[in-house]
Amino acid sequence: MPQNVIPLPDDPRYMDLSYPEQGALTEEERNLDTLPPDQRELARKFWQAVKSDFRFNEYLRGCLNCGVCTSGCPAAKFYDYGPREMIQYMMRDAVDRIWEFVNKKVWACVQCYTCSMRCPFNNEIAGLIMLLREYAVQFALPSAKEILAPYRRVLYTVLTLGNQVTPDMIQPEAFPDWGPQAVEESKNMDVYRKAIPVDLLQRTDIGWHASLQTAVELMTIMFESGVMDAIKNVDPDLYDMVSDIYEERKSQLEEIREKWMNGELKEEDLPDSWLDL
Ligand code: SF4
Ligand code: SF4
Repeated sequence: MPQNVIPLPDDPRYMDLSYPEQGALTEEERNLDTLPPDQRELARKFWQAVKSDFRFNEYLRGCLNCGVCTSGCPAAKFYDYGPREMIQYMMRDAVDRIWEFVNKKVWACVQCYTCSMRCPFNNEIAGLIMLLREYAVQFALPSAKEILAPYRRVLYTVLTLGNQVTPDMIQPEAFPDWGPQAVEESKNMDVYRKAIPVDLLQRTDIGWHASLQTAVELMTIMFESGVMDAIKNVDPDLYDMVSDIYEERKSQLEEIREKWMNGELKEEDLPDSWLDL
């Protein structure tokens, strides 16, 4: 082989054509010198964790740098953001750029999956964004804490009931940006719902029903699958709140089961929903 020809690496996704002068650096040292010294180790660990996830290799398959992903991205129309940018950083193993990206831009994506549908390389781009976000939560990065803080109430209902919103959350007073019209409309909401010929919309309470047993099973899954560990990192108060509710609901369920087994409860006395307790 002639001396000036660079051999292809085993994994073509890591062809570093733009930065041949960095070839002599070790994997750990690559691009890290541009980051503040106190963030280098964390950035390196973060990127290693993302790359070690089995989904990373499945989702990232290569990149033509064609820009099709960014051209159809709604977030790229409004923000200094683009999925191609992220894929290129990943392809170049650019720890410093990935670190900057995950600390701000990654949260601009609306998860519409347009980029994934259009990529000629079949990259699962939106999945890679989810991966970065998931690890941002696991690593309790400040950007993840900031972004999730306003969603505390939504997270609370997802974790305890399995629903994102409950009817009592949809109060126009809580959403002044809806304007005065929404307040007027909401006064007649019962009448409007009856006018819609879909049973469920006339009985919205059914859509948010969660029995005591369902609620306990749901929270057990959240704790045992590690979701609550991630929540603990970004919002310890929410973690404490859900933990208390979990313990309370579990003992309520145990008590009911015991009474039922001992024949102390009639069927009509059984609670229909945890809201009844
Ligand atoms: S999933 Fe995110 S990155 Fe992809 S097109 Fe939609 S907003 Fe853009
Ligand atoms: S559409 Fe696919 S191949 Fe084209 S720039 Fe985006 S990630 Fe790369």
